[in-house]
Amino acid sequence: MPQQSAPERLEKIIRRDAPLAGFTTWGVGGTAKTLLSPADRGELSISLGWLRSRGLDYYVVGGGSNSLVFDGEIDVPIISTRLMDTVTFSREGGSITLTCGAGALLKDVFALSVREGWSGLEFTAGIPGSVGGAIMGNAGTREGEISSAVRRIEMADRTGSLFTLDRGGIGWGYRRCSLAEDGIAVISSVVMELRESTPEAVAKSVRVTLERRKSQPLSARTAGCVFKNPEGDSAGRLLEEAGCKDLSVGGARVSEIHANFIENYADCTAMDIARLAKLCRDKVYEKFGVALSFEIKFVGWRGDFMEV
Ligand SMILES: Cc1cc2nc3c(=O)[nH]c(=O)nc-3n(C[C@H](O)[C@H](O)[C@H](O)COP(=O)(O)OP(=O)(O)OC[C@H]3O[C@@H](n4cnc5c(N)ncnc54)[C@H](O)[C@@H]3O)c2cc1C
Repeated sequence: MPQQSAPERLEKIIRRDAPLAGFTTWGVGGTAKTLLSPADRGELSISLGWLRSRGLDYYVVGGGSNSLVFDGEIDVPIISTRLMDTVTFSREGGSITLTCGAGALLKDVFALSVREGWSGLEFTAGIPGSVGGAIMGNAGTREGEISSAVRRIEMADRTGSLFTLDRGGIGWGYRRCSLAEDGIAVISSVVMELRESTPEAVAKSVRVTLERRKSQPLSARTAGCVFKNPEGDSAGRLLEEAGCKDLSVGGARVSEIHANFIENYADCTAMDIARLAKLCRDKVYEKFGVALSFEIKFVGWRGDFMEV
């Protein structure tokens, strides 16, 4: 088949006036004026080069399970990694090298590891979203964080140039990855290292994490925990004791099961969720003097969200 030129590939990658609600687990959000959906690192590079040549900024959406997308028209071009979802692996000795496209779903990678009996991702049981999004937020549970499995990350800078960083060249912390702070890179793929075990042993250690998931509203439309846990405390506890479990705004309500989850229970808007989150944050501040910081990311919002 003849190779497509960059303009031909761009035509396939770019979509105008694309509704974004289907790209988020909350199921809310407006319309992106420009949506770019590269299918591989070459197309990611072309996309970033195109944005750069027009002096445009961008925002990346992976699985949209940690993002609150603004209701209206979104000016900033959105890059979706959804199509960059290939997963390959190789075995050497007792170790497995897993290479995942940034848009591969973490739940699929997790399921593969359980099925094959590879140890190293047990703690990710029940975390939705993409591998790229998991890296950017160093996703995890009490049992572990994704950074522990990472060997190296391939990404593209704002000009579209591809480069690779080893795990050690990146700063990690609780829901923190220095790449997100630097704001210079879009992850194209992640190489992880897992250990050979057995499906039975892996399934056994997964149970601890799954047991705790019973205290979360997994069938509702949410984006997981809205706020990060403050040092040495639980945001869920503070929210519950501040009386947030009874609160709702429009079609958004605080989960009865877990106060750090906001549910879209009646076709709410992103603004309903934002207002409710702000109300919860204010209540915790009034009662405990603790200013909770957001775990979720705000996409396409204008000005200071706290003024909504
Ligand atoms: C029911 C439920 C349970 C959850 N439980 C947990 C949990 O136990 N632990 C936990 O940590 N999280 C949890 N979450 C939150 C969420 O699933 C994770 O944070 C997840 O890793 C986010 O991935 P995503 O692809 O959906 O990210 P998105 O929401 O798409 O993006 C999150 C951030 O990452 C950036 N990003 C995404 N992909 C890339 C890329 N390729 N390159 C550069 N930047 C990128 C985005 O720009 C954004 O800033 C839960 C969510 C739900 C709905």
